[in-house]
Amino acid sequence: MSEHTKLEHFIGGERVAPKSGEYFASTNPATGETLYEAARGNTADIETAMQAARATFDDPRWRDLTQTRRGHLLRKLGDLIGENAEELARSESRDNGKLLREMRGQLANLPEYYYYYAGLADKIHGDVVPTSDRAVINYTAREPLGVVGAITPWNSPLTLTTSKLAPALCVGNTVVVKPSEYTSATVLRLAELAVEAGFPPGAVNVVTGFGAEAGQALVDHPGLAKISFTGSTATGSRIAAATASRFIGSTLELGGKSPNIVFDDANVANAAMGVVAGIFAAAGQTCIAGSRVFAQRAVYDELLERVTERARSIRIGDPLDDATELGPLAFEAQRDKVASYVDIGRDEGARVLTGGNSSDGGLGGYFYEPTVLVDVDNDMRVVREEIFGPVAAIMPFDSEDEVLRLANDTDYGLAAGVWTSNLSRAHRMASRLEAGTVWVNTYRAMSPMSPRQGFKTSGVGIEHGTETIKEYTRLKSVWINTSEDAVADPFVLRS
Ligand code: NDP
Repeated sequence: MSEHTKLEHFIGGERVAPKSGEYFASTNPATGETLYEAARGNTADIETAMQAARATFDDPRWRDLTQTRRGHLLRKLGDLIGENAEELARSESRDNGKLLREMRGQLANLPEYYYYYAGLADKIHGDVVPTSDRAVINYTAREPLGVVGAITPWNSPLTLTTSKLAPALCVGNTVVVKPSEYTSATVLRLAELAVEAGFPPGAVNVVTGFGAEAGQALVDHPGLAKISFTGSTATGSRIAAATASRFIGSTLELGGKSPNIVFDDANVANAAMGVVAGIFAAAGQTCIAGSRVFAQRAVYDELLERVTERARSIRIGDPLDDATELGPLAFEAQRDKVASYVDIGRDEGARVLTGGNSSDGGLGGYFYEPTVLVDVDNDMRVVREEIFGPVAAIMPFDSEDEVLRLANDTDYGLAAGVWTSNLSRAHRMASRLEAGTVWVNTYRAMSPMSPRQGFKTSGVGIEHGTETIKEYTRLKSVWINTSEDAVADPFVLRS
C-alpha cells in the first residue's frame, strides 16, 4: 500500500466515504511513517452500516439461504483468505508490527476457522423435547440474533475478527465490525473478500474510526442484537454495562496476567523456551502472554539463566525481515506505556536483569527490548497489571500449594502454563488453576475447535468450538398441539 492511501468504510458491499469527510493517519510502527489514512467513522456512518446490515438480515436471499449454502460461503471465504495470504500477512505486519513470519503462520491457519464453521453450518439444529401428551410436539430451534457488532483490537486484527465473524455468519447473523483505529487495513480487505466469496453485500460491514466515536456509536445503536468484543478489561466493563442495561448479550474477551509455572521436575530447557515464547512472541502483545513466571527454587537459577540468555540474543528489527525475532510495539503510546511500567517496577524495587530500554530498532520505530524483571512479588503493579509488552516478571516458589495461591492471586483468569513431568501434578494444577485455558508442557496452543473462556475479569462468554454457537443464536421453544379433540379446560396448564 502506498503512503497516504485513503481507506474508506466498507458498507453494503461498497467502499463508502465518511459522512464527516474526515480521515485519520495510521502509522507503520516499525518506522513511524504514515502508512495510510482511514475514514473517521461517527454515529452517522454507524447508522448507515447498521441499516445495510439489517436490510441484509431481513432479505430472504440471506435469511432463507440453506444452512449448507451458508457453509459453502464460509468455505469459499476460507479459500480466498488462503489465496490472498501473503498480501494479508504483509499488510497486517506493516500495520501492527507483528513479524511477517508469525503472520504467515497465522494466515496459514486462518482458513481453518472458516472451514470449521463451514462444516458446522448444517449440523446446528434444535431438539424434539418429550412431552406428557403424545399429541403435543415440543421442539426447539436456534435462530440468529440479528445484527452483531464486533469490536476488535490491534494485536491480531484478522484472527480476532475471525473468531467473531465466522460463527456469527455461520448461523445467519449479519455483522458490523469496528476495528482498532491502529489496524484498519486487513479487516477492510477481509470484508471485501467476503463479498467476493458470495456473501450478500451488507452481511459484513466495516466502519473504521476511534473507539470513543465509532465504537461507542455501535455499542449504543438501538438496532444492535449483540456485541462481541476483544480488548481491555476497562472498555469491556463499560460495554458489559451498556449492553446489560438494554438486555442484549455480549461476549467479552479481555485482558490477562497469566502465570507460567515451572516445577523442578520439568524439562527446564523446554520450559525456558515456553517461557520465552509465552512473553516475547508478538512483543508480549497478546492477551494470553505468560507475564508472571514462577520457577521452583531448585530450578530457579537455571531457568533464569536460560531465559535471560535467550532474551539477550533476540534480534530486534524490521518485522518484514525473516531474521527478525522481535518487532515493534503496535504504536508509540503502547511503547511508552511499556516503558513507564518498567520504570514503575524499578521504583517498586524490581531489578532489571536484561532489557529495560526503549529503542527505535535502527528504523525510527517504537521498539522495546525484551525485559526480565526479578526481585518482584505479587503486590507490585508490574506483577498485578497487564503491561501488554515484552516484560517478564520471574519469581521463585517452594511448594505446589504456595504457587497455586500466588498464581490464583490475580484479578485475571485467562490462561496459565504448567511445566512438569509429574502426571498427577499436571492434573491437580489443571484442576485448581483459576484460568479458562491451562497448558501443560506447551504454551499458546490454540484451535478453532477448542472453546475458550476467560475467568474472573478476563471475560464473559465462550469463543471458538461448537460452544460459541450459543453466543450467536437465541433458542426458541415451539409447542404444537396436533390433536383434533376439543380443547380442554382453559384453566389447566398443559405439560
Ligand atoms: P481498548 O479496549 O481500548 O480497545 C479495543 C477496541 O475497543 C478498539 O477497537 C477500540 O477502538 C475500541 N474501543 C475503545 N473505547 C471504546 C468505547 N468506549 N466503546 C466502544 N469501543 C471502544 O484497548 P486498547 O487498544 O486501548 O489497549 C489498551 C490495553 O488493553 C492494552 O494495553 C492491553 O492491556 C489491553 N488489550 C487486550 C487485548 C486482548 O487481546 N485481550 C487486545 C488489545 C488490548 P480504538 O482502537 O479506536 O481505541
